[in-house]
Amino acid sequence: PPPDDDPLLAGLNPQQREAVLYRGQSLLIVAGAGSGKTSVLTRRIAGLLKWREAWPSQILAITFTNKAAAEMRERVRALVGDESDGMWISTFHSACVRILRRQAEAMGMKQSFTIYDTADSRALMKRIIKELDADTIGFTVGGALGRISRLKNELTDVDGFARNANMSDPKEAVLLEIFRQYTAALRRANALDFDDIIAETVYLFRAFPEVAALYQRRFRHVLVDEYQDTNHAQYALVRELTRAPVAVPGQSAFDGASLTVVGDSDQSIYAFRGADIRNIVEFERDFPNSKVILLEQNYRSTQNILDAANSVIANNFDRKAKNLFTVVGSGDKIIGYTGYSGHDEAQFVADEIEKLRDAGSSYNDIAVFVRTNSQTRPLEEIFIRSAIPYRIPGGTKFYERAEVKDAFGYLIQVANPDDDLALRRIMNVPKRGIGPATEAAMQAMAERQGVPLREVLRDAASLGLGPKVTAAITDLGELLDEVAATVATAAPHDILTALLTRSGLHAALKNSGDPQDEARAENLEELVSQAKEFRVQNPEGTLVDFLTNVALFSAADEIDDHDGSVSIMTLHTAKGLEYDSVFLTGLEEDLLPHRMSVNETGGIAEERRLFYVGITRARKRLFVSLATSRASFGDVAVSMPSRYLAEIPGELIEWRDSGGSGFRSGFRGVRAAPMRESYGQLPPAPRQKTEWTTPITAKVRDNGDLTLAVGDRIRHTDFGEGRVSAVTGVGPKTVAEVQFETAGRKRLLVKIAPIEKL
Ligand code: ATP
Ligand code: MG
Repeated sequence: PPPDDDPLLAGLNPQQREAVLYRGQSLLIVAGAGSGKTSVLTRRIAGLLKWREAWPSQILAITFTNKAAAEMRERVRALVGDESDGMWISTFHSACVRILRRQAEAMGMKQSFTIYDTADSRALMKRIIKELDADTIGFTVGGALGRISRLKNELTDVDGFARNANMSDPKEAVLLEIFRQYTAALRRANALDFDDIIAETVYLFRAFPEVAALYQRRFRHVLVDEYQDTNHAQYALVRELTRAPVAVPGQSAFDGASLTVVGDSDQSIYAFRGADIRNIVEFERDFPNSKVILLEQNYRSTQNILDAANSVIANNFDRKAKNLFTVVGSGDKIIGYTGYSGHDEAQFVADEIEKLRDAGSSYNDIAVFVRTNSQTRPLEEIFIRSAIPYRIPGGTKFYERAEVKDAFGYLIQVANPDDDLALRRIMNVPKRGIGPATEAAMQAMAERQGVPLREVLRDAASLGLGPKVTAAITDLGELLDEVAATVATAAPHDILTALLTRSGLHAALKNSGDPQDEARAENLEELVSQAKEFRVQNPEGTLVDFLTNVALFSAADEIDDHDGSVSIMTLHTAKGLEYDSVFLTGLEEDLLPHRMSVNETGGIAEERRLFYVGITRARKRLFVSLATSRASFGDVAVSMPSRYLAEIPGELIEWRDSGGSGFRSGFRGVRAAPMRESYGQLPPAPRQKTEWTTPITAKVRDNGDLTLAVGDRIRHTDFGEGRVSAVTGVGPKTVAEVQFETAGRKRLLVKIAPIEKL
């Protein structure tokens, strides 16, 4: 046993200490937010290594995001040094892709399989629904994919569904056919979708016990963070991994791996992805002789914040009561604000952020949470106007841009020639004279011969088309084949550069003369930089590794703790994170709880957990805000305060004077009357009439100390050339009024507007 004064145990409370030191078969740590679950998991791993109880290669730790994985790896390294190399710390998806690529052959797939993202899955589903005319009986792309996703998360494959579905229901019969075709198409394309990644790994282990045994023998310690958000497939995977491996004659027998899971059922917020709270509730039954440790001391937040969180979550039924406490004291009161519009609310947020800055906070210590992405717009506009640097993780959608997807079409085609979807995407991009009729002829030939579309490129002459188009098809095939020959060894950025240049994709955009295309060409250059950066981080990284990395990239991975900007993110993305100051915005009915959730079983409780997750992210200061009217779907609608606000004891919130003011939490029933009536007055006139048109960029640009004077001529990326007609404000808040030649008069924040002086 480690010495009592081992630095690794320093500062832990008795329960945490017990959790780090417990050495039974299975351990469940259930505890509220901020009680040190993730920290304890990290120390457990460090302890196993430091006290020579395990080799790094015997450890498999699962986190919810890639970023959390990187952080955990870093912390373990800081605690025990380089001995930590060789551990698997990753998300479920990354771990499974790693296993599947190694075992692709057993699965009947090729090692370079493509991982379909949502857009790819949608494109495929669209074709299938169209071919089956399934839309005529009410199938939508999203609906069908949702059903199939749920089936996969429950480990129901096509055969399983066929056995259990009610075939006298025509919709079920059609769904079965859709599921069958979707699965077959993925197989043909040597591709998996997100849900397959987990499910196929489970099937692999079940079908090939000797393959499962490789991993069961290897991983002696399996640890899972955020266990409350595992779905059935992930649960099954954990069970498979921790089973005793089948005995191999002549080799010593192995027990199942030890399992540690940590979670908080109050923070389960992914039911829509099939997360199943039962996994945590029934842990003791499923893993006999398991030890349960509770942690109740919170090390993150002040008592006021915890009191608010405790009283909100107490309204959920069917949960084990637990009460978080801290020893840091009550701290500041929660600040509340009711705006008359989303912009007014955003202005409040911006003003408070500036105050926090003046008081010494850095932008990085501040986060603004929203329920849905549509709420970010007014925040962005006001932040840009106030020169507050911000970032929206997952908001840039860089990988969803058409030109970037085109580039990936090329990359995927050279890595995985079976992927017809990728080839169709780039067939005529840039334009090379292969029209829809030609493509249809090619498709028909591929189907007749039962080969991937790529094969047809190699035999274009047999299509019997004109010489020009035949040559174009042959050229494309040769380009792909030549680059494909380098895939195993060449660096991803070199492959990308070769494809972009030789296909003419980059040049076509660069030389088109359209400024929009210019920006697209720059995005392709940015992609090349990213590929280079990837190779720096992963010196051995192949193209397939790069593609995997991008496919598994998620919003939370984009958060940068040191870039000097405020993070605006959804509550779902905020899980597991912490900030000194947190703004919870849009606390209105229809937003939180979201209108979609209200009629769903358990929806109100799930949204309450989301609110609880939001509150418990704050270390020192919590702001809650709402607007009495909000623009949605191009309309302005009156909104009512979220029912959850009334669940925070009134004395914990200090409401700031606001445009209309009126709502106070603490007394229930207030929300019966629409806000506008309770105000008895019309909302005040907006503070700013000018339309703010600075384009929204994820990273705020900075023109340094560019100074403009009346009469200067400038060029704006979107509005073209114009002349400055007035300048107001000083320093970073300088605003120029510009008369553009075609776009009219605009007001621009000089520091960040995309302009140059002529
Ligand atoms: P969540 O439920 O939000 O995921 P968690 O239970 O995983 O939270 P951690 O993130 O591990 O909690 O810890 C919350 C904060 O408390 C972190 O800043 C962590 O460093 C700190 N912390 C945890 N345990 C201790 C301790 N014994 N002493 C001091 N600080 C601690
Ligand atoms: Mg945690």
